[in-house]
Amino acid sequence: MRLRNVTGSREVIAESCFVVQEPIAHRGKWGALFGNQNPIHIEIGMGKGRFLMELAALNPEINFIGIEKYSTVLLRAIQKMEVQELDNLRFIRMDAEEICAVFGCGEIAQIYLNFSDPWPKDRHAKRRLPSRQFLARYHEILAPDGRIAFKTDNADLFEFALAEIDAAGWKIEAMTKDLHHDEKMLAGNIMTEYEEKFSAMGNPIYKYIIYR
Ligand code: SAM
Repeated sequence: MRLRNVTGSREVIAESCFVVQEPIAHRGKWGALFGNQNPIHIEIGMGKGRFLMELAALNPEINFIGIEKYSTVLLRAIQKMEVQELDNLRFIRMDAEEICAVFGCGEIAQIYLNFSDPWPKDRHAKRRLPSRQFLARYHEILAPDGRIAFKTDNADLFEFALAEIDAAGWKIEAMTKDLHHDEKMLAGNIMTEYEEKFSAMGNPIYKYIIYR
């Protein structure tokens, strides 16, 4: 994602009621923040938030949290929420490496990884969001019947992600190497910003859903 310097994005984030300012304080009690005990789904690396906003609007009985590392990107999601406020969606600005400090054991019902950064150099493999290091973190915060859904147009990243599943003790529930031509897996698909861009260029979209 191209980062432009958006003046004051940190200040806007610090004052936004859509952003959870002290996420660690909510560890193990996120239900209280939403005022209900509905399941919680998170998207890690949500970018400008389009996917989560659509999903949250369609599923008011689920609470959603979007995690994004960069203020300049998160600002775009906040601006969307100012136009269409959703009670069941909140944002956190943080590096996903810290998720185990923010969510309690089994507190999360579903994790979405959409078009995660590929980190092509081998020495950066552990930064890839579907890496075994991240799968170990997801294992801690996901409920026993929880699922991870991962989409990308990056063939190398997808092959890497597939190889990590077994190594980390997870199992594949569903998988496609051409989501937009897979009738079963496409049902209910919500396009992300990147998905729209890359599928319009003719790139096939890869997806898996995994569990353990
Ligand atoms: N998910 C969106 C989509 O599909 O349109 C955005 C995809 S963009 C390629 C990847 C996003 O993940 C970027 O906004 C980046 O800042 C964020 N990201 C990458 N690594 C992250 C991390 N460790 N923690 C939080 N966000 C991260």
